[in-house]
Amino acid sequence: MSRRRGQKVNADQPKTSASTSSSSSSSSSSAFSFPTLALISIAIALALTTSYLYSTRTNSDVISSFTRLPESYALCTPDNVKIYTVVQDRPTVHCLLVSKDRLLATGTLDEIRESWNVLQNELIKKFYGNEPNAKKPLEVFYTKPGSIVVPGLADAHAHLVAYGFKMQLQLDNATSLTDILETLEDYVRSHREVSDNPDQWIQGMGWDQTRWSNWRGGFPTAADLASRPLLSNRPISLSRVDGHALWLSPRALEFTLHSLPGKQWPNDEDVAGGEIRKGEDGQPTGIFVDNAMDLVPAPPPSAEQTEQFARHAMKDALSVGLTSVHDASSMDAGMIGVFKKLADEGDLPIRVYAMASSALPSDGTKPIIEQLHKYGIDGRLDVRSVKVFTDGALGSWGAALLEPYSDDPNTSGIMRIEENELESLVKTWWDSGWGVNIHCIGDRANKFVLDIYERLLWNTSLPSDTIASQRRPRIEHAQIMRVEDLERAGRLGVITSVQPTHATSDMWYAEDRLGPERIKGAYAYQTLLQASPNKILPLGSDFPVEGINPLLGFYAAVARLDVKGNSPHGSSGWYPSERLTRMQALKGMTLDAAYASFADDDIGSFVNGKKADFVVLDRDILDESAVPAREILEAKVLATVVDGKIMYGGL
Ligand SMILES: [Zn+2]
Repeated sequence: MSRRRGQKVNADQPKTSASTSSSSSSSSSSAFSFPTLALISIAIALALTTSYLYSTRTNSDVISSFTRLPESYALCTPDNVKIYTVVQDRPTVHCLLVSKDRLLATGTLDEIRESWNVLQNELIKKFYGNEPNAKKPLEVFYTKPGSIVVPGLADAHAHLVAYGFKMQLQLDNATSLTDILETLEDYVRSHREVSDNPDQWIQGMGWDQTRWSNWRGGFPTAADLASRPLLSNRPISLSRVDGHALWLSPRALEFTLHSLPGKQWPNDEDVAGGEIRKGEDGQPTGIFVDNAMDLVPAPPPSAEQTEQFARHAMKDALSVGLTSVHDASSMDAGMIGVFKKLADEGDLPIRVYAMASSALPSDGTKPIIEQLHKYGIDGRLDVRSVKVFTDGALGSWGAALLEPYSDDPNTSGIMRIEENELESLVKTWWDSGWGVNIHCIGDRANKFVLDIYERLLWNTSLPSDTIASQRRPRIEHAQIMRVEDLERAGRLGVITSVQPTHATSDMWYAEDRLGPERIKGAYAYQTLLQASPNKILPLGSDFPVEGINPLLGFYAAVARLDVKGNSPHGSSGWYPSERLTRMQALKGMTLDAAYASFADDDIGSFVNGKKADFVVLDRDILDESAVPAREILEAKVLATVVDGKIMYGGL
């Protein structure tokens, strides 16, 4: 999604004055890392010489024997080798050895015991005069029969605060306009601060007119929101499910008009990169698309609300097995401040890779946001990349296409930024050592961004793949691409960060909009993966545009079916040759996502020395014969472990 109210960066808003630290470009390009003996010794020494507090969070739905674990332990699956490592040479193991926040070894129980012994011997030699009684026994825990263990799941593109915001007033379950109006009426009745104050803005997110039954077609209007007396005179601003359009009530239109210079609606050509939809009478209908949304004066959430939304989202994320989220919200200093505060307090329960706003100060061209690397008490916050916007979304005919839409020849979508301006913006951040993640939906946006990346990657003395692995340039969505650009992205080492549930949400109308030729380069996940020389394809959900449960994305990626098991091409899935295998999907949600956030040395696979982040699932979703595609979504998270500690559920 693109933005909500409150994420907008105001050019004259105060910026952080701290200096910009340079980006570390030492991250290894190799997929796996190996610990040094020193690291192991230090970890063990710390484990045995300091006390370590384990916080636990339980959920009443999960009946567990263990919700707390000791500082060092072995974790094994009881009936089979069911720990999926995401390591090519040894894809499954029986046990993990964890000490504090790190994995010390993986293998059979015998191998784990051997590692434990070696380490204990080393330790008593160092600290206890070789006294054998000082050796600690290894505690072994088993997961439930039938369960599996996978590395902590990542969502490579999501919006935490927007998720919390959306949960306040849920519009995405609506299957008709009537549903929307009734939900809004209930909201007014149940919120006194709203019902008592007719000037109080009502803000929500999640409507999607393509899901409404008996809908007359096109966008809804302001008049629709005024059709109920309880709502008719209130300022209402509702973000479409994709975040690319606002639907305003007549009162909200009035407030907007009064906030504009000269109290006049701008001419169409003056709303660059956006559109105020107008009716036959030339008056706004109530739909503001893309950059036009910036004109609406609805108040942004306060810092307290932002924190509350973020906490809500992170708690829900843990319950579905997410241990890391790449937040693509184009965060301004205020929102970064909220996450920084949580990190300072040791209150970030998951890892957050926050993409900062790419808006530049109005007085100059140098970025002044401070980079944060493994920041906070638990080192879980990273701010080292920016989000750049190009076009809109397919659902609102905003994706920028090279040729007109097949179902609306009058438009080719919206480029929200001039191509020259885009290139200089990208270059400014790139040259300042920041990671750059660029939202591109349509083939025009994707083409121009690849052109820009190509120039940046070739304009250097080092080989372009070396630069690409150091800088990890990303395209967010990579949704509709020319066939030659699918291959070009791979060749350049540009990371395409995709959202499989977008394919299954859009598959019912995407081909109408794009036609039979362009659809070949759309949502082409297997082609993108094969084009990548290192086979990297991070997967995300774009929640709250889609659901937060990563299994929805796993299922969409491997089945290309909707949750009812349907697709326009039948039960083998929509364009089934673009399905991912289950192992490819798991890697996309773990190691590939880690790579895309410069964290593959630390998380994403079970390799000695990496963080002990893992998820226990109640069934083997990696085994097609055990769990057919239609049963993937029935899988339950039994435990989510971050830094070796159970943060949700239990063993
Ligand atoms: Zn998004």
